[in-house]
Amino acid sequence: MEENNTNPAQINPVRLGHTSTFKFKCHPGVSCFTQCCRGINIILTPYDIIRLKTRLNLPSDQFLAIYTEPHLLEKTDIPVLTLKKMDDDKDSCPFVRDEGCIIYEDRPTACRYYPLGVASLQHKEGADDDGFFFFVHEPHCKGFEEPCDWTVAEWRADQGVDIRDEVNAEWTDLVVHKRSFPPNIKLTEQAKQMFFMVSYNIDKFRQFVFESSFLERVPVDDETLKKLKTDDVALLKFGVNWLKSVLFRPKDPMTGQDLPDPDAAS
Ligand code: SF4
Ligand code: SF4
Repeated sequence: MEENNTNPAQINPVRLGHTSTFKFKCHPGVSCFTQCCRGINIILTPYDIIRLKTRLNLPSDQFLAIYTEPHLLEKTDIPVLTLKKMDDDKDSCPFVRDEGCIIYEDRPTACRYYPLGVASLQHKEGADDDGFFFFVHEPHCKGFEEPCDWTVAEWRADQGVDIRDEVNAEWTDLVVHKRSFPPNIKLTEQAKQMFFMVSYNIDKFRQFVFESSFLERVPVDDETLKKLKTDDVALLKFGVNWLKSVLFRPKDPMTGQDLPDPDAAS
């Protein structure tokens, strides 16, 4: 059921759909400006990392080392990353300054959705949470007092999350799929490494595809290969689809052989 909410701070968590409405506006004039960029865990999606490492002109492994913290999803074996907080008294995001976000055009998906949360990215075990949204309740946020009306669909379009959700869709599906597995089905260490490399370390995955025996085991046509050499998003989509076919299996289904070692190309 979708709700119409004009004063969410007084409402317990509710399930919002694309046509749900709310009032919100964030701008440099609000008294709380940039407070939401401190003391918060920002989960990074694979596309967020591609955008950020490109923006910062860093190889993906360096970006990961400098800017991310690894976690394991509760009751699953799925590795996820959050933005590493600065070592200051407010646990600030590394990209926040008094004047705002210095990587605003490439800010992560979670920052774009705020003050909405995406249920499928919250990773609560056993939750029936595909395809809906909720308010991130933070008492300091004054944006709800601003007279600006949105539907959830309008907010998503305005914040540019549509393209991000499209690129991340198969990956999110993979995470949700794993979450629905019985708790006694564990990923192998090798499978976790594969998931991590494809999801977050796209430059290493490219090295793996082109410099290991991968292409001997997984046939790829010439046109696709050419694209995968230079297009990070195409490589991510390819990798996630490949992961889907092999992640929960001990053997490569195409060859019946063990999966290649992800460190083989290092
Ligand atoms: S706390 Fe809310 S209103 Fe304040 S800067 Fe963050 S999003 Fe904007
Ligand atoms: S990335 Fe930008 S918008 Fe997101 S928390 Fe950091 S400073 Fe704020």
